[in-house]
Formats: sequence, structure tokens, C-alpha cells
Amino acid sequence: MPNPAKLSPLAKQVCYILTGGDTAYCNFRFGTQLVSQTKFQEVASYISMGAIQVTEMPFGTVTAAEYYPCTAHPDKKATLQVKASLNQADYIAVSNVIHEATHAMQDIQRLILAQEDAEAAAYVAQAVYFHYRRFPEAPVTGDFAADNIIKVAFDIASANVGGFLIEAADEERLRKVILKHPHYRSNIDPFFKYRFPGVAIPPY
Ligand SMILES: [Zn+2]
Repeated sequence: MPNPAKLSPLAKQVCYILTGGDTAYCNFRFGTQLVSQTKFQEVASYISMGAIQVTEMPFGTVTAAEYYPCTAHPDKKATLQVKASLNQADYIAVSNVIHEATHAMQDIQRLILAQEDAEAAAYVAQAVYFHYRRFPEAPVTGDFAADNIIKVAFDIASANVGGFLIEAADEERLRKVILKHPHYRSNIDPFFKYRFPGVAIPPY
């Protein structure tokens, strides 16, 4: 493994979030997808190996974080883009890293998922984090459609303790509210899927 000291401070911060207390309680299943701290640790190790690059969000970007599979990034590299000012006290930014790292997890496994299923798992991961940070309810960001999704995800996360399996009725509630978000393409194309190409580990 390459020397982790070569990681940028921003990449180190992301690895800290993915391997420490922030993801410790994340352990659930949505359909066939398993989201767990072990898998977040795997994402961190891909970052440490340089297989997933961590880059700074361009100044003025509205979203707090983004994940790009290698096929969707100009560098042809799996890329996690995060806010430069990322710190532990910025709960919303940390939760967004957890959301996007869930997509990295899906990419590592080369999953082909309905968009709403891929998003549902990422939103629940975010909500578990809020729940274990003792938020009485999901924090509001002002993005009405996203806030509605995280509200349902938080309901589900807070009704469960430890490892849990998301029930079929809750899966449906989540899919429904995700499809109301204008950002998601499955809205207009019910057959649209996320086809994650996978993450190559570079030779060293
Ligand atoms: Zn997402």
C-alpha cells in the first residue's frame, strides 16, 4: 500500500469520516444492497491506494459533494469531490460525504441499480449518521425536495437500532419521495439505471 502520508489533507479528512465514529452505526440492507462501516472502510482504502481521487469542489458549486465513476470524470478516474472547508462540525457536509461514499461503494461493487434504489441507500446512510449524532430530526438544508427525502430516510433510520433491514413498505416510501425530486432522471425515464463501471486499483 502506498504511503498514506501522500494523501492530501482533504483526502485524509474523508478517510477519517469513513473509518471512524461517523459511519460506525451504519449497517443496513436496502433490498440486495448492504451498507456497512466495513464497506465505508473499503472506500477509504481505495482512496488510500489512489484508486479513488479526492478533489476539491469548485468554488461556488451548490452541492456539497459529488461522486463520479471513472466513466463520468474527465480524468478517467473514480472521483469523490468534496468541499475544501470540510470539517467535523459541519454536519451537513459530513453527511454529504457519507452519501457520496455510498455511491463509491456501489461503484466498487459494479452494481447496476435503479436510480431511486441507489439514492435510497445513500440517503439512509446519511440519515443514520444524523440519528447517531443525536439530531432530533433531519436538519433542513433549504433544498425542499432533498429535505423531503432525508426526512423519510431519517424516519426509517431512527425507527431502527443497530443493524437493520429496510422493510418493503419503507423502501416504497423512499422510492416515491426520491422520484419527486426533479434532479433524478428516473423521474422521466423509469428504465434509467446507474451502471457503475467499477474502480480499478492502480499498479504500484
Ligand atoms: Zn446520490
